[in-house]
Amino acid sequence: MFNLTRVVVFLIIFLMFSQSLFSWGSHDIFTFLVATSIPNFDYQKLVEIRDYDYVENRRYNTEKYVTYDLVAHGKAKITFDSDLLKVSGVELIQYQLVQDGKLPVWAIFYVYSRSPDNGMDFVEESGIVNAILGDTQANRHAYLKVTFFEYMEGDKSFLHFIKMSKEAFRKGDEYWGYRFLSYALHYLEDLMQPYHVRPGTVPELIQFLFDPKMRVFLRNAHSTYDDYMTFLLTRSKYKEEFYKLIREAKPLTLPVSDEQLIYEAILFSYSMFFDVHDEVKKAFGEILYNRRAMMEDFEKAEEDGKLARLYELTKKLASVLASLCKGVILKTALQN
Ligand SMILES: [Zn+2]
Repeated sequence: MFNLTRVVVFLIIFLMFSQSLFSWGSHDIFTFLVATSIPNFDYQKLVEIRDYDYVENRRYNTEKYVTYDLVAHGKAKITFDSDLLKVSGVELIQYQLVQDGKLPVWAIFYVYSRSPDNGMDFVEESGIVNAILGDTQANRHAYLKVTFFEYMEGDKSFLHFIKMSKEAFRKGDEYWGYRFLSYALHYLEDLMQPYHVRPGTVPELIQFLFDPKMRVFLRNAHSTYDDYMTFLLTRSKYKEEFYKLIREAKPLTLPVSDEQLIYEAILFSYSMFFDVHDEVKKAFGEILYNRRAMMEDFEKAEEDGKLARLYELTKKLASVLASLCKGVILKTALQN
């Protein structure tokens, strides 16, 4: 039975789907910083590239769900800036990255943590949504719960690849163990972006249903915060401090199931939504009715001191996220 709440929620989700990307920025850099700063974790280790030999109970956009190694096939260039090399101690010689059919663990994290945004999740199971909007990946990279009903399956995306990763490690296949684990971390990172678990305040969402301007505004607020992470990891004057915060985050291994862990992460992210959203609106207000903020807008706002609180909130999110990711890596990779 459809009651009014469910109809309204369905409409909101339906409209959210029209923003197809849903992607928190720079998963590669973030995950690289995480993986190269775990105490006693050998991220320089070379692991043998293995063929894909798995059965998965999920459908993908098969053109994009590649199973060969992207680095070995020259399809994934790794471009680090010097600051990133300096903090990690990694030596990057592009043409020597694959040695005797082996790849360093850090490179697997760097390359494959961004893969889920390459189009592989552009599959839309709902016939109605597909007919009108075509394929989107929002469903797989976000999560929404209203009363007892769950919508969107970012949590399931995480759980699926954690399960696949464990299966691979159990078989002694470290390459696929780390590759699936990198996919899983991508979804955990996405769900810690508050806009991926909550699209707006209640009054905004009501307005969202009838007012196209509010749709544009919320979409741009969301994309702006997606891009703010990229700004912090690449252009901000606090970049070094931000790297340090991620690298110094202690691994957090929660004594709970993977299902509980992703749910806790979602709740934390949800709890941060209102503060983050307020700050995004304060800093970029009017322009969000027309467009998302660009890198130059972030630079100017940072210079003018308008991002101070947003930066503090994002540091809190990033630090908890880094700790969780480190814990997940240790628990999944080293306890098999
Ligand atoms: Zn994503």
